[in-house]
Amino acid sequence: MSKVAIVTGAARGIGAATAQRLAQDGFAVAVLDLKAEDCADTVASIESAGGRALAVGADVSDAEQVQAAVDRIAAELGPPVVLVNNAGVTRDNLLFKMSDADWDIVMNVHLRGSFLMTRAAQKHMIEAKWGRIVNLSSVSALGNRGQANYATAKAGLQGFTKTLAIELGKFGVTANAIAPGFIVTDMTKATAERIGEEWEPYVAKRAAAIPVARAGQPEDIAHTVSFFVSENAGFISGQVIYAAGGPRN
Ligand code: NAP
Repeated sequence: MSKVAIVTGAARGIGAATAQRLAQDGFAVAVLDLKAEDCADTVASIESAGGRALAVGADVSDAEQVQAAVDRIAAELGPPVVLVNNAGVTRDNLLFKMSDADWDIVMNVHLRGSFLMTRAAQKHMIEAKWGRIVNLSSVSALGNRGQANYATAKAGLQGFTKTLAIELGKFGVTANAIAPGFIVTDMTKATAERIGEEWEPYVAKRAAAIPVARAGQPEDIAHTVSFFVSENAGFISGQVIYAAGGPRN
């Protein structure tokens, strides 16, 4: 039987590429996003490549929906032993214009969501005496203009990751974080739109500032997840990899 992985926010972008990569690596993958129907393309791509996947609709910031989703995954796919906390939103604005709602939704999806998903899934990892947790941080954790909410959440996830590593290590569970730089997804397309820049020139401008001289692709992050999740990465825990084509772009 394949081991089971959950990837949140896996309808598109980094989450979709990660779900596909973990399926290639031999995992049965729960493709979780706000709406189950939005997961259809990711599930179809995994199944057409011969893998096993389940579409699951849940809001990661809702405790009841999270518990129901993890219970259903355990019943239908098997006990989840890999969790990738990838679901995310941005509500960028300068501090003086940032609303309470913009602050709260970013904290709820990234921090509360990762907490609730991890609390629900860890039981299965501890029972299996093996597990891998990967949290999506960001270079924005180092501070980014217009992202007081997002930078705070992404820095918070690094503390969460290190604490999970300390608490869960003795059960064979590792926890690590990936802090991506500029990755071409709908999230960064929305940023370009918000600041009124054309997409292609925006990508070229961002790429020019990146030491490896290209934008990141979702597969770059999926590859990093695959490494952390791999059997032989069991002595690496509580770490943050900046996958940014350089120190922080
Ligand atoms: P994306 O294309 O916007 O995809 C994010 C996915 O998360 C969407 O499918 C979204 O669903 C889902 N989602 C949002 N809120 C959710 C919730 N409450 N419950 C369940 N699913 C939810 O984003 P991405 O660029 O792939 O980013 C993935 C992760 O990497 C995020 O944590 C992001 O902060 C992080 N990251 C991205 C970059 C980058 O440059 N792209 C850089 C650093 C870090 P809806 O479509 O329905 O909203």
